[in-house]
Amino acid sequence: MRCITCEQWSFQIICKSCQTTLLQPTLYKRQLDEDFFVYSFYSYEELQDLLNTKYEFFGDKVFNILAKLSFDKFSSTFNYPEQIISIPIDDHTRHEFSQSAILARHTKSSYITPIYSTLKANNKIKYAGKNLEFREKNPRRFKYTGKNDIKVILIDDLVTTGLTLIEARKKLLQHKCQTLFALTLCDAKF
Ligand SMILES: [Zn+2]
Repeated sequence: MRCITCEQWSFQIICKSCQTTLLQPTLYKRQLDEDFFVYSFYSYEELQDLLNTKYEFFGDKVFNILAKLSFDKFSSTFNYPEQIISIPIDDHTRHEFSQSAILARHTKSSYITPIYSTLKANNKIKYAGKNLEFREKNPRRFKYTGKNDIKVILIDDLVTTGLTLIEARKKLLQHKCQTLFALTLCDAKF
């Protein structure tokens, strides 16, 4: 096949050369709320074209490569005094695959265990291209069906205004779950 980035022949959908030169992760940190930070690995600009592959049949391959380069690396060096749970946001399969579930799978490590399908949005309205006012008027209205009283990391593919993550964290707090931080593949602010 051809690499979708440089179009050279490659065994993988993104060639090794592009993976090492173009897709080296950087750790971005943004404060979303009091005591609440989101860490991301890429800027939106870097990843814009690749993120759009979530609508393509090969999108899962792209997300697996990106997750391997960033989430795997992060998780393998992460340590904490106790076991924590990673929770992908709204990991239903709207398309062929769930990008947040793929990312969460790559947090699996000595200290982190991903748990799937526990945090679902009741409001499926699309936020893409909508402003802050619209987003505030149309909250996700999450439903949480996981364990109470645990420590978690929230996982999503993209952070824009941060409202989704803030709302998810509030929902978890109602279940006495403490969100340590959020991890996203990329941050639209950078
Ligand atoms: Zn390439």
